[in-house]
Amino acid sequence: METVLTMERWQDKAEFKERIFYFSRELGIDIKLLSLRPMKNKWASCSTNGNLNFNTELLELDKEIGDYVIVHELLHFRVPNHGKLWKSLMMTYLGDYEKTERKLKTLQGKFDFRQCNKP
Ligand SMILES: [Zn+2]
Repeated sequence: METVLTMERWQDKAEFKERIFYFSRELGIDIKLLSLRPMKNKWASCSTNGNLNFNTELLELDKEIGDYVIVHELLHFRVPNHGKLWKSLMMTYLGDYEKTERKLKTLQGKFDFRQCNKP
């Protein structure tokens, strides 16, 4: 039997931002500048000086996907790659994150892992 996917949507930008700040507190990351704006090629981006951008399209998607992208980006302030440490932290904060990752990959292929690898 097919399990019914419960889609839970974000109410508004404020709720999404609140979630970002929640995770940043959890991870002890200081966000200098946060913006939500339309982006063409990716879901989010971050820079080492504490600037974070999220694609407004995430607001149209399941909360589970938003959480994934939020934690994924925030962790890059700590871990610049997708290695063992990054994976175990993803697991700690999101549980079965690989399931969400597979779901995300079916969405227009927008989440480009090569793009978010930092030197
Ligand atoms: Zn990444």
